[in-house]
Amino acid sequence: MPRIYIETFGCQMNEADSQYIADRAAAAGYDIAVKPEEANVLVLNTCTVRDNAERRAYGRMNHFKVLKEADPDVRLVVMGCLAEQDRDRMQHLAPHVDAVFGTKELVELGDRLSEWRPSLADLAPDDDDASERALIMPLGGSADAVTDAFSHLRGFVTVQRGCSYYCTFCIVPHVRGRFDHRPMREILDEIGSHVAAGAREVMLVGQTVNAWKDPATGEDFGDLCTAAAALPGLERLTFISPHPKDFTEKIIADLASVPQLNARVHLPLQSGSDAMLRRMNRKYTRAQFEEKVALIHRYLPTWAITTDIIVGFPGESDDDFEATLDYVKTGVFANAFMFIYSIRRGTPAARWEQVPADVSSARFARLVEAQNAATRAYHDRKIGTTVRCLIQGPSKKDATRLAAKTLDNVTVIAPMPPDYDETLYAREPWLDIAVETAHVWGCTGTILRRAERFADAGGAVARPVISLL
Ligand code: SF4
Repeated sequence: MPRIYIETFGCQMNEADSQYIADRAAAAGYDIAVKPEEANVLVLNTCTVRDNAERRAYGRMNHFKVLKEADPDVRLVVMGCLAEQDRDRMQHLAPHVDAVFGTKELVELGDRLSEWRPSLADLAPDDDDASERALIMPLGGSADAVTDAFSHLRGFVTVQRGCSYYCTFCIVPHVRGRFDHRPMREILDEIGSHVAAGAREVMLVGQTVNAWKDPATGEDFGDLCTAAAALPGLERLTFISPHPKDFTEKIIADLASVPQLNARVHLPLQSGSDAMLRRMNRKYTRAQFEEKVALIHRYLPTWAITTDIIVGFPGESDDDFEATLDYVKTGVFANAFMFIYSIRRGTPAARWEQVPADVSSARFARLVEAQNAATRAYHDRKIGTTVRCLIQGPSKKDATRLAAKTLDNVTVIAPMPPDYDETLYAREPWLDIAVETAHVWGCTGTILRRAERFADAGGAVARPVISLL
């Protein structure tokens, strides 16, 4: 059987798109490859949100050139935002790429995989081929859409694509187009199929997810979550990534009446300075952002708020930066994705005078230090408590431990119980973990119980036998 290898850069939207391509490929008769050297078709799902992501994608295309040189039958496909943005340029920079599919051409890519399937049937590389290819150059990389015993526990459902807000730093509206909202019925059906396949948690994904409106009825994001909550068997629901402007009091009040929602919300601040927010075209002031935070605290008092912050945006003065830093120091955010501004071709901010790199780096270091202290304090508060987490599987850094995520998205690592068995723990994936230590990255603890369903009390896990000799 031919094999397809998929590697994804960027956001959850890209992850959801990669999953769609993997599902289409599997339906067409492909196996999902874990390593690039084992595959007939290599798919790079690219991102342009930062310069670094773009350079890594081109670097990866060059790595894969050696596989095509070793075996001209291997096909290299580029999809995602860079494919949309650089369609013509890519032909010069990476002429060995066989096909390019933009963000609105997922269905066409799925169709192309089906067309290729018969001609690839006899060409699947065997283990010797794969070893030979691996010897040419270590390719590394981490494959996406590779299913393991726990993959089905989390489902991703795209509810809207594109964005019409045109923040001056962002390439998304240029490469993904304007808002395009899926009908509620389609979304609910897809959530239902994930639940039927065993998902314990479903994440609603969209570039500005809470701007979603049903194209026919005008129902809003609060209505969508309320309707999803009524689906039989849905245990947990979560969403990413909302825009502060689109959180009305009505939507937040609706979320408060959905018991399945995970207690977390990602609320991208970007800057704590009004002057910067205006230049970024963020469509809210600092005071309006704080009003949204106050609404969340009022209706959803246990929820963790996380954020995105850009440092060194063109025109950012010391005072602008201090405004951001002061706000972060209040500890309002449980965690934050922090970035130094990176020029994106084709966006207004790319043409503006840039903040010197050393100034941005110094500000960034101060911001990270402040947020890390807040994050650590947030994690410290879990010590001595027992948290219910959804298993992820063996820890990537230490196979003797299990990794899991709390409802507020904190990673918890715990020693693997003696009765650990993949099938059993995939069937009973909710873990109660007694938290013992906290770090900036998450917490560690001991697994006490496991449960099949979120609402179940669960049964005790086996404990290690301690020798007193
Ligand atoms: S809201 Fe702004 S940052 Fe978010 S996708 Fe739209 S343009 Fe980009």
